[in-house]
Amino acid sequence: MTQNRSRTPVSIWKEWDIIDGKRVRAFVVIFRTSGCWWARKEGCLMCGYNAESDSSVGLAEIREQLNRVREAYSNEEFAKIYTSGSFLDTREIPREARTEIFEVFHGAKRILIETRPEFVTEDNLRDLSRDKLELAIGLESASDKTLVKCVRKGFFVREYEKAAKLLNHEGIPLRTYLLLKPPFLTEKDAIEDCLRSISFASRFSESISINPVNVQKGTVVEFLWKRGDYRPPWLWSLVEVLSKAKVEKESRVFSSPTGGGSMRGAHNCFRCDSEVLRSIERFAFSQDKREFDNLCCSCVDRWKAFLETQDLMGTSVDIDRYMNTDWEGE
Ligand code: SF4
Ligand SMILES: [Zn+2]
Repeated sequence: MTQNRSRTPVSIWKEWDIIDGKRVRAFVVIFRTSGCWWARKEGCLMCGYNAESDSSVGLAEIREQLNRVREAYSNEEFAKIYTSGSFLDTREIPREARTEIFEVFHGAKRILIETRPEFVTEDNLRDLSRDKLELAIGLESASDKTLVKCVRKGFFVREYEKAAKLLNHEGIPLRTYLLLKPPFLTEKDAIEDCLRSISFASRFSESISINPVNVQKGTVVEFLWKRGDYRPPWLWSLVEVLSKAKVEKESRVFSSPTGGGSMRGAHNCFRCDSEVLRSIERFAFSQDKREFDNLCCSCVDRWKAFLETQDLMGTSVDIDRYMNTDWEGE
């Protein structure tokens, strides 16, 4: 059972994305690896990815997973390779495997990989096909205070900046992930933190993906959520961030909220969620803020009251939960 798991990717799917302003088909694979080193040590407060990792995965198992990938890949232009950790950490993906993985996608125009910034070094980038490479780094917030107290990220903004500058210098496009609403921030502070982080990250990034926190199993965020001390962000907050984002260069800002419209993901009142999510999806491709113009639901007033009340009370607890108006979870 364990052996089969180690030889099977976590997931494979296909979706739409954008390269150079053009909508293209993307092939997405999450390789199962030995996991993110930081998750094994302390881990980010919202991250439950380690549940998908398997310490027995080595080169042989990655090769077996690659056979599944070969069967499923049909020359999509964009290949997105995830590991729930860092592709550039050789403990997760040995160097030999890197080359073999890139060979499978030799027909793709672009290959996206994710990594923590400490692995972005000239030496580590050397054996990758630079002409089609794109790197994604989860900065989460441009505030060291938020990174330390609300994310437990295990690196500082300056480490992201060093990696980003190297990528800019090498002409390798950067995608930056930012979190919307890590724990211990009020809804309003979370919006402001995210907007500030977008301006900062846009100096270095071709695209910025806003990831509203979703409550993953076995995480500190789940513990807080079950106690009523955390509510995933409102979709209205995400709309606010996307509408007000100010970028310094031509960065594309978008979001595909995992678990959006569910109790564990970013949500509004559940009546308007699908419509709001559709407009967020359309915005990802059009970058036209008018996508949000006609959204309306009576819960907007509740969201505004939530923002104000949390601020007045100086608390990040889920006020609706305490007033017993919103809770339908486990
Ligand atoms: S969010 Fe990324 S860096 Fe943080 S523990 Fe999870 S995989 Fe590691
Ligand atoms: Zn609503």
